[in-house]
Amino acid sequence: MTPEDTTSPDPTTRLVHADRHFGVEQGGVHMAIHTSVQYGYERVEDLIGVFQGTLKGKFNYARQGTPTTAALESKITQLEEGVGTVCFATGMAAVTAVFFTLLRAGDHLVASRYLFGNTLSLLTTLQGLGVGVTLVDPTSTQAVADAVTPATRMVFVETIANPGTQIPDLAGIGELCKERGLVYVVDNTISSPALFLPKCVNASLSINSLTKTIAGHGNTLGGAVTDTGLFDWTRYDNIFAGYRQGDVKQWGLTQIRKKALRDMGGTLSSDAAHRISVGAETLSLRIAQTSATALALATFLESHPAVARVYYPMLPSHPQHHFAKEYFSAGSWLFSFELRDADTLVPVINKLRLPIKATGLGDTRTLIIPVAPTIFWEMGAAKRAEVGVAEGLIRVSVGLERASDLIADFEAALA
Ligand SMILES: *Cc1c(COP(=O)(O)O)cnc(C)c1O
Repeated sequence: MTPEDTTSPDPTTRLVHADRHFGVEQGGVHMAIHTSVQYGYERVEDLIGVFQGTLKGKFNYARQGTPTTAALESKITQLEEGVGTVCFATGMAAVTAVFFTLLRAGDHLVASRYLFGNTLSLLTTLQGLGVGVTLVDPTSTQAVADAVTPATRMVFVETIANPGTQIPDLAGIGELCKERGLVYVVDNTISSPALFLPKCVNASLSINSLTKTIAGHGNTLGGAVTDTGLFDWTRYDNIFAGYRQGDVKQWGLTQIRKKALRDMGGTLSSDAAHRISVGAETLSLRIAQTSATALALATFLESHPAVARVYYPMLPSHPQHHFAKEYFSAGSWLFSFELRDADTLVPVINKLRLPIKATGLGDTRTLIIPVAPTIFWEMGAAKRAEVGVAEGLIRVSVGLERASDLIADFEAALA
């Protein structure tokens, strides 16, 4: 029996039974943590077959994957309903892999201006290597279309932006990319495949920082790139001749696996893959709970006189609320808000007892951080204004605490 034979439409049912259909040893119900770096073969013909790609599903050297990371890749592929996944040591390694293996000097990329700060920083490195980058407001498909040039190869957006929670016109951009033959990359980290399938809006590749929603416990780093199977790689000149063979749907991922995982080496360890797999089993439960709590807390804060604005996709006041309702089954655990009096920023945060003053997202514990003086400090005030980060903005990553406990805590801190 293969994991695909567990045919329940419910992803959790499929996920919790995936390992035992993988040929785990000794009847163990979890995939073992494989620590071997080398994988040996009785017959040298088989070793040659692994190198030449004629012997599939086997292992060679752990930098390119182990049975443990392969089991996780298969689960992420199932969650995203894609055709394959490559895992990386971090979300940033996955993002880097996509840019550096699929774009070349002279190519042009159109990206959201509301990206994760480190991704925005990475784009300046990419520009230094000769790739043109145009940042646009992706809530408008027209803005994306206007930025496309004959050199454009790729469009990159995030489903729910951090910290401002802006939502792109995901379907409109998908249509545009299909018409123009552009690789459409959607960073699904904040929503996760439990709330949204990028495949449904014609995305070519879906990226997840596994560190956040999927692993969910703030105890491991990881990233993944999943191919939805929708992009026609025969039309993409940047695929090297050596990878233009076999199943066309795997060409892009083959290049990403060889050029990024094998050559650049941002490999996920088996230990981390195991922790991510265990975390993923409760993905649907956690996201339902944290989304409900985030909505309750955001609704409370919006009605509080000390609060100027709350940014949460499921609030009717959110500028892209219509997109949120159209695309997502719930709003996820991220929201941000601005205090009316920016001078109270520090004392209010210090008065909170439950939220932990820390960076990071998608933990079981609620985390809180003032955005401008920390994660967006390096870019400076002018750039912050450009990407929509107000100086008094506070970001909250909602955990598993009871909603009424969190509301009482915020109520006391704001009093
Ligand atoms: C955190 C994050 C990343 C990077 O993930 P790491 O695992 O921390 O490297 C990429 N994209 C988004 C949207 C993120 O929130």
